[in-house]
Amino acid sequence: MVKIDAIDIGTRRLDWAEWALFLDIDGTLLDLAPTPDVVVVPAGLPQRLQSLSDRLSGAVALISGRSLESIDDLFPGGCDAAGTHGAEWRRSGRVEIVGEQWPAELTWWVKGESRHLSGLLLEEKPCSLAFHFAANPTIESAVRTLALTAAALSPIPLKLVGGKNVFELVPAGIDKGQAIERFLGIPPYAGRIPVFIGDDLTDEDGFRTINRLGGLSAHVGSRDTSARYRLGSPEEVRQWLTRLDILIGAPS
Ligand SMILES: [Mg+2]
Repeated sequence: MVKIDAIDIGTRRLDWAEWALFLDIDGTLLDLAPTPDVVVVPAGLPQRLQSLSDRLSGAVALISGRSLESIDDLFPGGCDAAGTHGAEWRRSGRVEIVGEQWPAELTWWVKGESRHLSGLLLEEKPCSLAFHFAANPTIESAVRTLALTAAALSPIPLKLVGGKNVFELVPAGIDKGQAIERFLGIPPYAGRIPVFIGDDLTDEDGFRTINRLGGLSAHVGSRDTSARYRLGSPEEVRQWLTRLDILIGAPS
């Protein structure tokens, strides 16, 4: 796998201004934290993203498993984003719910069944339910069984997606790849070269979509991936974005 760095950016110089940039948040833009609510947004990062968006005619979107509300807590301003793995989608401030309505009764059932699972944190999102177990990884198997049982009981089709110390039930048919493709169907994203950077298993759908469309897919970390490029850490991602911002802005 090729590592993307300043040299690779340099060889693609003619392409920069034609890129559409899609960025995962946790583990990609931001360093991972023990729980999602204690991540830190480095000083200057929101301004960097805004600068890149300005240089790319607005073609920058955040693609996250977080809800839009949670994304806005980190990056205020109502930026273009796909939340809850693509079940929530926002362009120019207009929000669409892509997935089926979440069955609230299922959340209540899970809460009742999970009382004995010490260390489990349930995160209720508009269109999904996440089971975080970073505080007690030994319950992984029990949590997985509980989530699969809930999926079987659900009145709408759900799928189980796995991440780092988290399982999540999301409406079937929802993934980051379809969210990216939805952006690419409209201005200013349409016709641009899509670039997607992500770190987790749920980002693989995005990588495959990007590869199919001839874009640039980059994985953050060291595991096996369908992404074609690699960055070592969120810090490397941030440095790469800084270089990209400077290079696009430099006179040619
Ligand atoms: Mg991530």
